[in-house]
Amino acid sequence: MIIKIKDLDVFYKNIHALKKVSVSIENGKIIGLVGGNGAGKSTMIKSITGLVPIKNGKIFFNDRDITRLDSASIARLGISTVPEGRRLFAPMTVQDNMNLGAYLRFKNEKKKDIEKDIKKIFELFPRLMERKNQTAGTLSGGEQQMLAIARALMAKPKAILMDEPSTGLAPLIAKEIFKVIKSLKNRGYTILLIEQSARMALKISDYAYVLESGKIVLKGKASDLLKDESVQKAYLGV
Ligand code: ATP
Repeated sequence: MIIKIKDLDVFYKNIHALKKVSVSIENGKIIGLVGGNGAGKSTMIKSITGLVPIKNGKIFFNDRDITRLDSASIARLGISTVPEGRRLFAPMTVQDNMNLGAYLRFKNEKKKDIEKDIKKIFELFPRLMERKNQTAGTLSGGEQQMLAIARALMAKPKAILMDEPSTGLAPLIAKEIFKVIKSLKNRGYTILLIEQSARMALKISDYAYVLESGKIVLKGKASDLLKDESVQKAYLGV
């Protein structure tokens, strides 16, 4: 396991947002975490990346306890986020947004190597390549999501945490984004995919967890969860 989360408890004052949550993220896999509004999905990402205080429980990255590390140190270890709402720098160009994703690397790596990586990532996202000098704020929703993913890749991550990448996208565009995510797995990336769109997330995930009111209520192979009657009723509109 590249990331192991054990019995996590997170509170916002008196709101118990995560209740003894345990999740394992296996190297080279897509792990889905699905759940409705307010289930605690974003809190999971914030917990892993050091953005909320953890009351109980532990988080391990490659067997190292990172529970109390600050977010900059966690990022430096190779955990990269594609945040909810993309959080791009709208007035900056596509290329500059991508460079920002590599900011931790500029200190220790040659500019040439980073430029090589940009080239490789542009090959994955030809639409971004065509728009590299366009400002991020003028991209379509789908293109912005691709840029948010491309920026995360620029950090050379060992694990990528994606917070609701389909939010606000038309179904066809969302489908395209999920295809991109799956292709990343095929290239060896490890992904935690947090989603309200359970069907699409389960279709591309290897293993998945269902979160309800801060608790994991179901877990299993994603293909099994897709067939599970309670999941179908609660999340798939069957
Ligand atoms: P959504 O899909 O709607 O974004 P989510 O599953 O990501 O929801 P979280 O954002 O993790 O859910 O929120 C979990 C619970 O914690 C909710 O009840 C929410 O109201 C509460 N919460 C989240 N952030 C805060 C905060 N900063 N202060 C107080 N309560 C919070």
